[in-house]
This record gives sequence, structure tokens and C-alpha cells, in this order.
Amino acid sequence: MDLGIAGKRGLVCAASKGLGRGCAEALAEAGVDLVINSRTEADITRTAQEISQKYGVSVTPVAADITSDEGRAKVLSAAGKIDILVTNAGGPPPGIWTDWNREDFIKAIDANMLSAVALMQALVPGMIDRGWGRVVNITSQSVRSPIPELGLSNTARAGLTGFVAGMARQVAGHGVCVNNILPGIHATDRADNLDNAIAQKSGLDIEDVRRNRKSGVPANAYGQPEDFGATCAFLCSQHARFIIGQNILLDGGALNVTI
Ligand code: NAP
Repeated sequence: MDLGIAGKRGLVCAASKGLGRGCAEALAEAGVDLVINSRTEADITRTAQEISQKYGVSVTPVAADITSDEGRAKVLSAAGKIDILVTNAGGPPPGIWTDWNREDFIKAIDANMLSAVALMQALVPGMIDRGWGRVVNITSQSVRSPIPELGLSNTARAGLTGFVAGMARQVAGHGVCVNNILPGIHATDRADNLDNAIAQKSGLDIEDVRRNRKSGVPANAYGQPEDFGATCAFLCSQHARFIIGQNILLDGGALNVTI
């Protein structure tokens, strides 16, 4: 299917690997010129070269912490005019509900709520002026069903979801579609880190941990960044113009919910 977005310009945050990279690759395959970001210079530079060579689009790497004011300023100044924005950042650390103090909450809210809000505030006005834009925020299945050990994620991402629910409907009339994708378990470094933490705590072998986690997913597998990216690219396509303020759950059926 032709997504109709070749020649558009996209910014994908936190994209040297994992879900962000999956989104960057799918947009590049659709012909979108990209600015991609993550903190480690060598990784983001290599990823930009690989994507550019593979798909023949322009890919500009920007090494910066997207959760800081300075990092966002650096990314935004390199980005210029942007038609497609994918917000993303690393997830907060696990723990239990008694672990976290005010500073921990502020850090998680900065990273997983307010940095996405700031990027939308910076870039959506230009999309409105040009009469076309797409925003996809990478959140988590924890928005639909809380993950007990990820209370910081449950909290911050619920805040972003509330903001998007209101804002998406205010910009839709200008051709700008804002939606969220909610990943369940995907095979990335983040999933590896969480699996290792469970293995260490429980004394189980890492493969047993993975088997246990998979058994809770009706699709009986971890999701792949490529599939995640394909959904993101569709939401950024011309065909998605009637999809507004939605929360698309990509979890292999893990959440046992009717809608
Ligand atoms: P990942 O494989 O660990 O990749 C994270 C990417 O983000 C890397 O490129 C990393 O590069 C970059 N990054 C991290 N912090 C950043 C920051 N402050 N500024 C800029 N770049 C940053 O993680 P993932 O699995 O793709 O997860 C992406 C998001 O989805 C996270 O918020 C995660 O919590 C959420 N999520 C993931 C899953 C899953 O199963 N994978 C499920 C639910 C939700 P540098 O370290 O070099 O910056």
C-alpha cells in the first residue's frame, strides 16, 4: 500500500534502537526524510547511516537527551519544519508503590509526559499552518491496565493520554492527527532489562522468565519493532486522516478487555 507520505519530513525521538528505530525504519521505507534522536552519539549516527543507505532517504542524527530542555532545543533546531512527529523516550525504572518520592515522580513525568507535550507544542502549530500533520506518541499498555512494578510509567503515561485526548480534537480540523500507540511486550533491550530484573529477583533462568511472560500473551510471542513501526507508519499515512485521539493497543491480545 502506498502510504502517500513520500517527501514528508519526520522527527522520531529515542530512535537508535527498539520501538523508535522500528518507527523510523517504517517511515523511511515510506519515503519520509528523517531527523532521528537518542543520547549516544555513536549509536544514533550509525543508525542514521544504516537507515539512509537502506531506504535512500535523508536521515539526520541528533545526539541529545530528549527529556531535557537543552536536548529538545538541540533536536528542534536541527529538525526545522516537521510534518510527522513520533515522541518516545526511555521508560522509568521498576519498583513498588512505596519506593518513589516526589523527585522520582517529577523525573518520570518530565520524561514520559511533559517532553512529549513540549514537542507537540513546538511542532504542531507549524503543522496547523501548513494544514497537514501527524503525531504518534509511544506510550504503554500500562495506560489501559496498570503494571504493578511500573507505577511511575502508569502515572506519567496516563497524564500524557489525558492531554492528548483533549488536544487531538482541537487540532484535527486543521488536518493534524494525533494518536498514541500502546506497546505490550516487544523484543527490545528494554524488555531484556525487565526480563533480567525478574530473573534476578525470582532466581529463575532468563529463558523461563521469557516463556512465562509469553504464556500471558495470546499471540504467544513478543512483538517485533518492525511490526510496531508498520502500525506507526500507517497512523502517519494519508489513509489515517479519520483516526483522531485514539489509543492503539499492540499487545498480542495480552489485555483481556472487550474494547
Ligand atoms: P529500548 O530498546 O531500550 O530503546 C530505547 C531507545 O531510546 C534507545 O535508542 C535509547 O538510546 C533511546 N533513549 C532512551 N532515553 C532517551 C532520552 N532520554 N533521550 C533520547 N533518547 C533516549 O526501549 P524500547 O523497548 O524501544 O522502549 C521505548 C519506549 O516504549 C519506552 O518508553 C518503554 O518504556 C516503552 N515500552 C516498551 C515496551 C517493550 O516491551 N519494549 C512495552 C511497553 C512500553 P540512548 O540510550 O543512546 O539514548
